[in-house]
Amino acid sequence: MFALAEAIFPICRSITGEGVRETLRILGRHLPLKRREVPTGTRVLDWEIPKEWVIREAFIEDMNGNRILDFRECNLTVLNYSIPVDRIVHLEELREHVHTLPDQPDAIPYRTSYYAPRWGFCMPHRQLEALASGMYRVRIDSELKDGSLAYGEYVHQGETDREFLLTTHICHPSMANDNCSGLALLTLLARDLSHRRTRYTYRFLFAPGTIGALAWLAANEDRVKLIDHGLVISCVGDSGGPSYKRSRRHDAFIDRAMAHVLRNASGSRLLDFSPYGYDERQFCSPGFNLPVGLFQRSTFATFPEYHTSADNLDFIRPEYLADSYRLLMDAIDIVEKDWTPLNLFPKGEPQLGRRGLYGALGGDKSASEKAMAMLWVLNLADGENSLLAIAERSGLNFDDVAGAAELLREHGLLAASVAE
Ligand code: ZN
Repeated sequence: MFALAEAIFPICRSITGEGVRETLRILGRHLPLKRREVPTGTRVLDWEIPKEWVIREAFIEDMNGNRILDFRECNLTVLNYSIPVDRIVHLEELREHVHTLPDQPDAIPYRTSYYAPRWGFCMPHRQLEALASGMYRVRIDSELKDGSLAYGEYVHQGETDREFLLTTHICHPSMANDNCSGLALLTLLARDLSHRRTRYTYRFLFAPGTIGALAWLAANEDRVKLIDHGLVISCVGDSGGPSYKRSRRHDAFIDRAMAHVLRNASGSRLLDFSPYGYDERQFCSPGFNLPVGLFQRSTFATFPEYHTSADNLDFIRPEYLADSYRLLMDAIDIVEKDWTPLNLFPKGEPQLGRRGLYGALGGDKSASEKAMAMLWVLNLADGENSLLAIAERSGLNFDDVAGAAELLREHGLLAASVAE
């Protein structure tokens, strides 16, 4: 995952343009991604696909031709979606077009202007402060043309058409945690899942933030009713968290599964839904109200590296990517393995000893835990509680509950509830 994040890190992405396509090509080496193109001007819900942004070059030079700032060295230095400019301007005017972070004077901010036509640069505050008064040449060789917005999709067909949607944005330029980490993790998770037989159909969506999610929703309005579970993934490679923001529904199955998975993870945080963040904003808008939550490590906008040049490859680590991957796979396991058991001997406890199931009395701790799991499952298997509900109420791990239920089913003590 780290190597893949590293490979896509240098690319200058935006909500449209070749950067997205190039990124999809690299991700596509690991799984058969389908690229979709939505033409400029297409109405998507209340929005419209904008013109496609092309960026070739951007720099600031002093009057002796010395480069002060060069897009080729860092793609954050140009305001993302900047209109073209080629002028000689005085420092005073230049300042109005330069974005800096006075509180983090060595970092370059990441700034965009997708929907208001502006030109601009981003640089370290210290560098701006050091510029001598006088004239500068500013050149941004960009273009806004009729083109299209690209997004990538991969579907792993399961035994049923009920869907689990996993998505991340694909529109930030060189930012490691806030974007490359999510893209790398989802790609390799999709690849690994593609080799598994699954109950659910898994849809992986790599779409530019906001407008890409809206474009997908507009094109799939009749499909969204198939979505039973969903996760937006971002910022999954840093040392913070892990954290989960609930869907608008608050207690959707995925909300409960993620809460269960994070229960024992140190430093984990559970957050209630709020209408600000990543594309859960679109999936959880009232007209869709999908069961889609947000999984992150550090939550957006809370870490100083967020949307700055400090969100680089040193900020993410393979072990945190791996931990995020495991947590997501654990949630997927719960979704895949959950079922609702019905106790076939509900009057009194069935005699476990006679069936060789009550081996706990020798004092073996793990055997006694297994016995407790069986007792909990038998007691709550009234057809109302799924395995996750039993895990929640008993405080046991889902895996232990699922293992006990399987054993009891093999011994004819449980059946799947008819509602299954
Ligand atoms: Zn971001």
